[in-house]
Parts: sequence; C-alpha cells; structure tokens
Amino acid sequence: MTSNWFINASYFGVALVFILGLKAMSSPVTARKGIIWAGFAMIAATVVTFFLPNLHNIGLMVLAIVLGGGLAWWSGKVVKMTDMPQMVAIYNGMGGGAAAGIAAVELVRGVQHSAMVSTLLVLGAIIGSVAFSGSCVAFAKLQGLMNKAIRLPYQNNVNFFLTLITFGIGLTIGYADSPGGFEIFLFFALALALGVVLVLPIGGADMPVVISLLNAFTGLAVGFKGFVLGNPALIVAGIVVGASGTLLTQLMAKAMNRPIKNIIFAPLTGEAAESGAEVEGTMREASALDAAALMRYGQKVIIVPGYGMAVAGAQHKVWEMAQLLEEGGVEVAFAIHPVAGRMPGHMNVLLAEAGVPYDKIFDLEEINADFAQADVALVIGANDVVNPVARTDKSSPIYGMPILNADLAQNVIVVKRGKGAGYSGIENALFYKENCRMLYGSAQSAISEVITHVKALEA
Ligand code: NDP
Repeated sequence: MTSNWFINASYFGVALVFILGLKAMSSPVTARKGIIWAGFAMIAATVVTFFLPNLHNIGLMVLAIVLGGGLAWWSGKVVKMTDMPQMVAIYNGMGGGAAAGIAAVELVRGVQHSAMVSTLLVLGAIIGSVAFSGSCVAFAKLQGLMNKAIRLPYQNNVNFFLTLITFGIGLTIGYADSPGGFEIFLFFALALALGVVLVLPIGGADMPVVISLLNAFTGLAVGFKGFVLGNPALIVAGIVVGASGTLLTQLMAKAMNRPIKNIIFAPLTGEAAESGAEVEGTMREASALDAAALMRYGQKVIIVPGYGMAVAGAQHKVWEMAQLLEEGGVEVAFAIHPVAGRMPGHMNVLLAEAGVPYDKIFDLEEINADFAQADVALVIGANDVVNPVARTDKSSPIYGMPILNADLAQNVIVVKRGKGAGYSGIENALFYKENCRMLYGSAQSAISEVITHVKALEA
C-alpha cells in the first residue's frame, strides 16, 4: 500500500514535469531547459518503476537499460548535426517498436483483458508497428539509402486491404483465449508491412508531415500500452507525445498547404515531381565580392537558410558574416520556413547552436511582407522553400505551398554548389529571375569568402 502510494505520487510528479518540460520546449529560449527536465523525469519514472510489486527479470531489465542507454548516449555524442533528422526518425521508430514489443509480450502471455483493454492492446500493437517500420523507411530515405518515393501498383487498394486484414487478425487474436504463435507472428508481420507500404510512396516535399505523423503514432501507441499495463506514467507520456505530434502534423501540413489525407492517399511521387513546367532563361553568376558589396552597402538583408547550410555546417560562418554586416549598420534578419532542412525546427536548432539571438529569427508569416523592402535576400542552401512556382505554376506538385518571398527582394543572392534541384526534385524559377544571382560554392567556403570581402570593404 505504502509502496503503491509512493509510486503513484512519483508518477504524478513525473507527469507534471513532462508537461512543464514540453511547455518549456515551445520556445527556443527555454527549450534546452525543457529537454533537461523531461530527461530527468524519464529517469525518475524508470527508477520508480523498479519499486512496482512482483517484478521479474530485474537483471534483464537492468541489462537492457544499460545497453540501450549506453548506445543512445554514445550515438547522441557522435552524431553529426547534419545527421540529426535521420537520428530523430530512428529514435521515434524505437518508441513505436517498444510499444509493439510490449503488445507482443502481452499477446504471447495470453493474459485475459477486458474488451476495452484488448482493443487498445491491438490498436497499440498496430500503431506501434507502423510507427517502427515507417520510421525505418523514413530513416532510409533521409539517409539517402533508398529512392524518395516508390509507388506500388494499386497502392491505395494495397493500403486499404492490408489495413483491413491486419485489423481483422488483430481483433481475432486480441479476443482469443490463447492466440497461436503463428497468428501472432502473421499479425505483426502484416502490421510492420503496413508501415512500410504507407511510407514508401511518400517522398519529396511531403516528408516533414509524415515524420511528425509517425511521431504522433508513437505517442499514441505508448499511451495505449500505458492503459494495457495500468501504468499512469506511460499513459501521460504517450498522450503528451501523441497530442503534440498531432499538433505538429497539422502545423506541417498547413505549412505545406496539403491536407493530410492527400499526403497519405495521393502523395507526390517521382513522376509528379517532374510534372511542373520547364523553367526558361539563364542563371547569372555573382562573385563573393559582388555579394559582399551588395549586402555591405544595403540597409536591410534577409538571410534564408536551408538544407545546404546544414550540410555544409555553415551556420557559424553565416552568423559571423551577419554580425560584421550589423557592425557596419546593416539590418539583418533570418527567415525560417517551417519545412526548411530535413526535420521540424532544423534551422532554428542550427542557428541557436551558432548563437544567433532569437529576436533575429522570424517565421514565414512574421517576415514575408518584409522581403519587398529588403535590399538583399541571401538564400543559403535553400531551394524548395523559396521556389516561386509554388505561387504561379498550377501543374507543379508544390503549387499552393506557402514560400518565403525571397524573389520580391531588390536583389537575391543564392549560395549553392551547382545546379542541383531541391528535395522535391523541382526546378527553381527563382534562380532564373532578373534580380537573382548565383554564388556557386559550398556554403561554408562561399560565406568565408564573402566575410573576407566584407572585412576588406570596411578597411
Ligand atoms: P532543399 O532540399 O530544397 O535544397 C537544398 C539545396 O541546398 C539544394 O538545392 C543543394 O543544391 C544545396 N546544397 C546542398 N549542399 C550544399 C552545400 N554544401 N552548400 C551549399 N548548398 C548546398 O532545401 P530547403 O531547406 O529549401 O527545403 C527543404 C525540403 O526538404 C522541402 O522540400 C521539405 O519538404 C523537405 N523535407 C523537410 C523536412 C522537414 O521536416 N523540415 C523533412 C524531410 C524533407 P546544390 O546541390 O546545387 O548545392
């Protein structure tokens, strides 16, 4: 009784800290604090769980925690900033996989549950398995190990029937007195296959929404497992992750102006990505000196960072350049598109790491009207998020996606290595515009050269 009281009170405290941590994560100023709080709450919840009565296999549990925790600690230390999106995808998958694993153990044990709990058990098993295998496919795509979009013949029919059969088998074994090993195996094999076929055809510009959707699935699966095990900490953690993942999915879908049902049932495929109109004209080149002079003698510069800045790890150089310009009296702001980079908040994380103050970083809605008054829009390794065809070309797969209005600035300088397309594979009409110049080179070295020239102009 005393120990139950202690455990429940501790779980209540942990749940409060989870929620406070999540609240703190909603602002970049307090996000680091929030993640530390949530981390400590997770450690506390794990330790308290060892006080539950009738625990078995304690040695195995400790071994799993040491191995899993050690691996996570090591990978968190060595992962390169550029590989963060893949790591987030695979960690998310691990959460779903763990929830599915708990369901598998419960089904194999054949413990009788109420109808409600059995339903949650099956639902959690399916959603957790989909989150796991779907995240593995997302990881492979982000890591460049597989094609971005692979559409199966009769894709929607395959999805529909696979979902139906998986649920059918799931409910049969969920309500059976002692389900057979083969049925359980078949159920999980189908649920895992469902995750793969759902994510395979989704590629290009739709990926951010899928990643946050899988994140919401993981939370939901963990929450359901909390109900099955009667564990309040799992219920709260799962619901918090599920709810925030769902909100993030809605935000990302809004940022892309794509209804979630279209992303799942009518995703942008490779062929669709090629269906936009050909862009005519030529790209004009600028030197690092041209870029430096335009910015140094301008009054307002808006910097648009994208995936290329992340790949080059150029954020520190970019901030150094921005500070130099500011010392010369130029107003500098950073414009962040919600899907820039390869994970939600990717650019915010990189700029924060470089020390850019938060009040210089603006969201799309906050800054889009300012481009028309900017002397220079400096686009660094961004492509899809500044592609004006999203506004004008109805045949383009990104038509309707809100973009940063970099093309409306008086001058646009685009830093990129060559003529490579963006993640969606679509040609960018901005690069051919009269007011646009290309500064070719990897972001880190190109910006270093610009810095040298800005300094020389100061002298
Ligand atoms: P893009 O992927 O559209 O474009 C990046 C550009 O960076 C490329 O055109 C490339 O051109 C250039 N580049 C690559 N390496 C370097 C380098 N070392 N130095 C300079 N430039 C470089 O990036 P955006 O950020 O504009 O758009 C993000 C895209 O990714 C969107 O389509 C979004 O939907 C998708 N996405 C976003 C996710 C998210 O959660 N944010 C998740 C998954 C996908 P070149 O090769 O010529 O250098």
